[in-house]
Amino acid sequence: MQRESAGSLRSTDIGRRVRLAGWVHRVRDHGGVLFFDLRDRSGICQIVVSPTDAASAAASRLRPEWVIAVEGTVRTRQEGAKNAKIATGEIEVSDVALEVLSESDVPPVLPSANDVPDEAVRLRYRFLDLRREEMQRNLALRHRVLQATRRYLDAAGFYELETPMLTRSTPEGSRDFLVPSRMQPGAFYALPQSPQLFKQLLMVSGFERYFQIVRCFRDEDLRADRQPEFTQIDIEMSFAQQEDVLSLAEGLTKSLVAEAGWDLSLPLKRLTYKDAMARYGSDKPDLRIPLEIIDLGTLADAFDTPLIQGALAAGGVLRGLRAPGGAALSRKQWDELGREIERFGVKSVPYVIRDADGLRGSLAKALQPQAQDALIGALGLAVGDAAAILAGEDEKVSLALGVLRLSFADRFALRKPGHRFLWVTDFPLMEWSEEEGRAVSRHHPFTHPNPADLGRLEDEPLAVRAQAYDLVLDGVEVAGGSIRIHERLLQERIFKLLGLTEEETRNKFGFLLDAFRYGAPPHGGVAFGFDRLIMLLAGASSIRDVIAFPKTAKGTDLLTGAPAEVAKAQLEELRLREMPPEEAKR
Ligand code: ASP
Repeated sequence: MQRESAGSLRSTDIGRRVRLAGWVHRVRDHGGVLFFDLRDRSGICQIVVSPTDAASAAASRLRPEWVIAVEGTVRTRQEGAKNAKIATGEIEVSDVALEVLSESDVPPVLPSANDVPDEAVRLRYRFLDLRREEMQRNLALRHRVLQATRRYLDAAGFYELETPMLTRSTPEGSRDFLVPSRMQPGAFYALPQSPQLFKQLLMVSGFERYFQIVRCFRDEDLRADRQPEFTQIDIEMSFAQQEDVLSLAEGLTKSLVAEAGWDLSLPLKRLTYKDAMARYGSDKPDLRIPLEIIDLGTLADAFDTPLIQGALAAGGVLRGLRAPGGAALSRKQWDELGREIERFGVKSVPYVIRDADGLRGSLAKALQPQAQDALIGALGLAVGDAAAILAGEDEKVSLALGVLRLSFADRFALRKPGHRFLWVTDFPLMEWSEEEGRAVSRHHPFTHPNPADLGRLEDEPLAVRAQAYDLVLDGVEVAGGSIRIHERLLQERIFKLLGLTEEETRNKFGFLLDAFRYGAPPHGGVAFGFDRLIMLLAGASSIRDVIAFPKTAKGTDLLTGAPAEVAKAQLEELRLREMPPEEAKR
């Protein structure tokens, strides 16, 4: 008899003899009558065994997570025993023959339990944790989105091509994972941070449209929700302009999110980086929050404070952000908000509160009375609202208000339901790195500058816009890409600007520059952060919940114990030796 899926049985199957196999999810004993739920990938189905059944003795031994096969007859459940919450809630399987395929110890993670154990336990026993319905659902969604990606891109004429995992260090700006070469002692491969250069070379080779669902590796101190290895949907197209890449990526996005039941209307909203920063104080604004930063430049004269006047005299800006219901914030809470934006050089948050009599709050005294109404109007303050008002350097004020915007959204539950996508375009080509004391690429050094800004490259590199774009979903960057440089001389110019000597350029990127000598088509592309996208589609709170075998924030795989020491012989073969502890500390 052919095995059927436990979760697929319905009342239309009543009277049929069926064979099921799976795990014992739950066992209940109702005065000798045993009820157990049999679980497989498709769901659960109730099995009933009476004391007079031949299977009764075997059934009474069953414990959670044993693996069994059952043959029985589908019948309707008694009135009162029906369960509308599950798909098979109308029926049960009775009159069964039962075979135990595998027994189970008492499992440390019980898939049927309501509360989820500690993450450390879940990761240690990941094979059990993955049996939980939530994880089954997440990984099933991941699978469907992977298949939808392949279908969409194949239909759009993209080749799925693989690029090496053992490669040279690629300059995506993070630290590489290195792999020592045994055959060439002292030399190392790097695991790819992304297939960036290979995909560009594939364009030079004439493949025109490439994609790859590819593992990427970045050896970073893992901030919040990152993984040392993660998956990208990597895309590159020849003869494509920014519009072509954006519209391809939008079409793909629409078909991917449909797998989660989301309906996306295209084209997606767009904002330039400059506008995103000015209006939302972020290059990945969460548009579910109905708050915008307001420029108060025209009201600047109405504030008699040295802080504001000094900032403006130094060429700064004056901007405000409404906190709906913010009158409820205590002095202490304003202090907490101040600490959230300390890193932008703001020590405390100057604010006003609108109550029935007008404005009060730390900044209200400094405001000329006749300007009150204008300020209330500009910020749209209703009675009970407050507003933070900051003066200072453009970017710092924007970023600080951007942080407050998120904080207000958290404190006052401001996020609207639903999901909001947008493109952020026209990123700056370079940014200043305090650490390195020089300009560095904001995206990567292969990003094409906006042709209109080429003339300023050497004199005002920080003012040059890039043909680079990010796709943002609910305040999270889910994809990013750019039009690439395909002109050798321009690429050399950029390397020079980034402070690379000719020799370094030859050494690291000689192969790319060589390729550009032999007919490189204009090209551009984009890469989606696949894990993050699935996390958002699944409504999961961590990317670890959409990856089968993730690592902890320390980069440990608690299941296998990786990373782990290796045998001395292995090290010797690789001509590697552990550094003596005194030296390692230095
Ligand atoms: N390689 C880039 C990244 O990993 C994406 C791209 O430019 O296509 O961020």
